[in-house]
Amino acid sequence: MKAKAAILFQVGQKLDLREVEVEPPRSGEVLIKMAAAGICHSDRHVMTGHLVAQLPAILGHEGSGIVAEVGPGVTSLKPGDHVIPLWRLSCGVCEYCSNGRPALCPAGSQIRMTGRLLDGSTRFKLNGKEIKHFAGVSSFAEYSVVPEKAALKIPEDFPLDKAALLGCGVITGVGAVFNAARIKPGSSVAVFGTGGVGINVVQGAAIAGAAKIIAVDVLPNKLEYAKQFGATHMINASRGNPVEEVRALTGGRGVDYAFEVIGLPATIRQAYDSLCKRGMAVVVGVTPMTMEVSVPIMTLVFEERILTGSVYGSSRPLIDIPMLISLYRAGKLKLDELLTRRYPFAEINEAYDALEKGEVLRSIITF
Ligand SMILES: [Zn+2]
Ligand SMILES: [Zn+2]
Repeated sequence: MKAKAAILFQVGQKLDLREVEVEPPRSGEVLIKMAAAGICHSDRHVMTGHLVAQLPAILGHEGSGIVAEVGPGVTSLKPGDHVIPLWRLSCGVCEYCSNGRPALCPAGSQIRMTGRLLDGSTRFKLNGKEIKHFAGVSSFAEYSVVPEKAALKIPEDFPLDKAALLGCGVITGVGAVFNAARIKPGSSVAVFGTGGVGINVVQGAAIAGAAKIIAVDVLPNKLEYAKQFGATHMINASRGNPVEEVRALTGGRGVDYAFEVIGLPATIRQAYDSLCKRGMAVVVGVTPMTMEVSVPIMTLVFEERILTGSVYGSSRPLIDIPMLISLYRAGKLKLDELLTRRYPFAEINEAYDALEKGEVLRSIITF
């Protein structure tokens, strides 16, 4: 079948909307008719070359849609099911999956690194040449084929536009709080970078009962958003030293948890420097491959500080996405407020320009 898709041919270029040939799903795969796709920074990182991906590829790793067709042997899904594609595929049987850490499953990185589905081929073609799958999702297409295990069924009465946010931005941010840091009620938290993912760290910390939530950003509108999502204090990092300000707000002690949601060595170091003894800094931001960070070793030893990271919210999507849906329905997880703009598919490059300028909190394209 033919489908319109946004292709990245080369790093540094804009997305090119073309009509591609989509092959039917093979064994253990499903064809999804996309309803919405999230505009997330990670795709931007691919466009700028900060994140390496096989090209040309159909980008998009956040989305929601309806199963249009299932391949042979698919048992868990049927046409008409509403689904969220998951950009970290997990096999369910390896050491990491068995340990409740499916985001670390090697199957997820295999698709990411090759740009091909599990049998080593692609379902997209343009003029007879293969087009790669980005993160195994490729949600910037009217139709996409994904492995059955990478499509999570959601209730049919859950709005598909909100669902598109759950598969990356929300689960990554809230999951970093719930699963990676496991923050305790009453604790103090600093969040460096309150964009689309950072804002979900803020609201995750609020839901988890943090007493003090300090938002750090350089854009006043993002700090204002952070306040709406539960931040108790806002620091504009362009006006001074945020580490000193975080320390001042905690009586000199430092925070129990700091999250870095930008992906820069300087802000990772700031997050680490903001910690109290035994405090934990969690890096969520994606940095260019070659970046390194250094910290004073003595604070690791004599203060028992922890520096760690979190991929995909260290989540178990089968458990965590239904939990996020329950939190939304209970009025605790803000999704309506998160979705600040919608674009038609044809305006996908404009959507990324707005993201780059920091104009929007979270936006989607609809098909
Ligand atoms: Zn696995
Ligand atoms: Zn994302």
